[in-house]
Amino acid sequence: MSSKDLKFNSKLIHAGHYNDQYGSATVPIYQTSTFIFENAEHGSKCFAGEANGYIYTRIANPTTRALEQSIAELENGFDGIATSSGMAAVTTIYMALLGQGSHIVSTDAVYGPSRGVMEDHFSRFGVESTYVKTANVENVIKAIRPNTKLLYLESPANPTMEITDIKECSRIAHEKGILVAVDNTFCSPYLQRPLDLGADIVFHSLTKYINGHADIVGGAIVVKDETVYKKVRQMMVMMGCCMDPHQAYMVIRGMKTLGIRIDRSQENAIKIADFLEKHPKVEWVKYPGLKSHPQYELAKKQMGGPGSMISFEIKGGLEAGKILMDNVKVAILAVSLGGVETLIQHPASMTHSKMPKESREKAGITDGLVRFSVGIEDVEDIIGDLEQALNMI
Ligand SMILES: *Cc1c(COP(=O)(O)O)cnc(C)c1O
Repeated sequence: MSSKDLKFNSKLIHAGHYNDQYGSATVPIYQTSTFIFENAEHGSKCFAGEANGYIYTRIANPTTRALEQSIAELENGFDGIATSSGMAAVTTIYMALLGQGSHIVSTDAVYGPSRGVMEDHFSRFGVESTYVKTANVENVIKAIRPNTKLLYLESPANPTMEITDIKECSRIAHEKGILVAVDNTFCSPYLQRPLDLGADIVFHSLTKYINGHADIVGGAIVVKDETVYKKVRQMMVMMGCCMDPHQAYMVIRGMKTLGIRIDRSQENAIKIADFLEKHPKVEWVKYPGLKSHPQYELAKKQMGGPGSMISFEIKGGLEAGKILMDNVKVAILAVSLGGVETLIQHPASMTHSKMPKESREKAGITDGLVRFSVGIEDVEDIIGDLEQALNMI
């Protein structure tokens, strides 16, 4: 039976499995930079793409390929590309698809550096960018220009939890010949599969849910179409932002439990969001699983579940937020997300601090906003922890 016929949790265990000569049950780590050719002819055929064979680890490596094929299968794409980090995936996509005089339309509240590298650096090479609330499709239509080459979406957006209609946006972009790339880090393919919704490219910071154990940094890109895939893969090889085989092994190991980790953290998150929404010291809670979320219905339609990222605003703004963060004991005060441990952070002073206050607030990232990544601990411990820390305010 091909792993393509299996259901999601089975795919996590069996997709992209590498059959080595010793019958190893797990994917071996091919910790090598280069590969021996059988002879001169084999070497030249490998370079010409006429023979199967690895050449050099920056181009491809068996351990890394196992991960790439597995993620491609989970996202229903043509093939995958592993990168050294999530940001390496972002910059590889930008480099492969944009150039002098081209334009990108993007979600305004994207992951901070995804916007920063575009506005501060790609702009130096003549790439133009427009950031809008893609949650409102009209904004996307208005922002498209004749030179728009890429629609770059993040849904749910980070950290405002706004949901973008990927299907509708893809339809609009494709009418104008524009490619659509989606940052699927917050959901993972377990909860959302953008290629099935019409996007052309999906990518991840593997650092988060897919690896899930806060012990490596990595990224991956999955492309639907072979021609675009080859272009993006070539760029990864040229930029040299390949994933190390040991890092790939760690992700393969971590991702086997993706489904059960998300089931558990999501179950916790639903209870925590409920608790926070009722708490008198909390101004508002943004979580796609709450009926109060403005796009509750779209989230239900587009995502397999609301996930385990919660944003909430503390009454008392910055000061109150600081008290909360200094007093939690179970939740860890750290950036990143999607691990087995519950993390708390303050975007205005941490992840989005480089963003000018005006564009930050325009994107909905207010001073008192707290971002909470729910882990797999016992939910009573997380709620008890929040309760005692909120009481200190
Ligand atoms: C963390 C993150 C990234 C960047 O990934 P790194 O692995 O840290 O380079 C990109 N997008 C989102 C949504 C993220 O959370």
